[in-house]
Amino acid sequence: MQSYPDHIWHNGRIKPWAEATVHVMAHGLHYGSSVFEGVRCYDTPRGPVIFRMSDHNRRLLQSAHIYDMAVPYSVEELNAASREVLRANGLTSAYIRPVAFRGLGGFGLSADTPVDVAVAAWHWGPYLGAAALESGIDACVSSWQRFAPNTVPAGAKAGGNYLSGQLVAREARRLGFGEGIALASTGLLSEGAGENLFLVFGDELHTPPASAALLNGITRHTIRTLAEDAGLKVIERDLPREYLYLCDELFMCGTAAEITPIRSVDGKPIGRGERGPVTRRIQDLFFGLFDGRTEDRWGWLEPLGQE
Ligand code: PMP
Repeated sequence: MQSYPDHIWHNGRIKPWAEATVHVMAHGLHYGSSVFEGVRCYDTPRGPVIFRMSDHNRRLLQSAHIYDMAVPYSVEELNAASREVLRANGLTSAYIRPVAFRGLGGFGLSADTPVDVAVAAWHWGPYLGAAALESGIDACVSSWQRFAPNTVPAGAKAGGNYLSGQLVAREARRLGFGEGIALASTGLLSEGAGENLFLVFGDELHTPPASAALLNGITRHTIRTLAEDAGLKVIERDLPREYLYLCDELFMCGTAAEITPIRSVDGKPIGRGERGPVTRRIQDLFFGLFDGRTEDRWGWLEPLGQE
């Protein structure tokens, strides 16, 4: 059975989890008009840090801006809310979920309803399984494509987008795969149900461009920065489906999934059918940020700090 943390931050204050309720006629519930983030707090030798929290909260406000949703808090206030909810629950290692949504206050599609904001935090291991960080997962190409760029903006992390993600993920799990990979409406590679993709050719990393109906992931940007810093070439480019089968290594990345290797796609082994050396190196650089092996020269580790 799912257990819940004791406290949650809701509209400006910490309250007991059970009291953070929403009216059944809230706009966001009917029309998918919510925007959200996934952020992680890691325990490090220098104390707990929230990874790229300001970048995540900035993206939350950008997603809201696309939908003319007036979030009544600044990045700094949202950062403070994350810190507060971690402290209230005594968490030093957690997944944090800020969400803003259109509440009760109008039934029309374009209604300017009040915007509710909540921030929750709880223990959540790697999304595709802790063992998968080493063993990798078996993935499939979904029969569901991502939405065309002139229909729903993939660059906004909005609740409604995740109807697409649910179809992709549920189909994959139903067919016995660990995760689904979606193609864009162009037929070219897009992303996983809730993760970005990297294909490794030799010591080059290739990833689909933002125009391929994907969320421009913060982990994707982190990997790009770490890889280039380590002297690896990273190329953003259109990628046809068959390159999945031809690359030497393949992995998915995201805040929830962290860096999860993919060992097969559609039943075909990728490379040697196991986590490859470049993926391993990228994982070491990434997780090294949290155990002190990788120096944070970019100011990504934002301390939870003292009360
Ligand atoms: N694509 C989708 C559809 C996602 O939901 C996520 C996870 N938020 C990502 C990519 C990865 O984004 P990030 O690295 O910013 O978590």
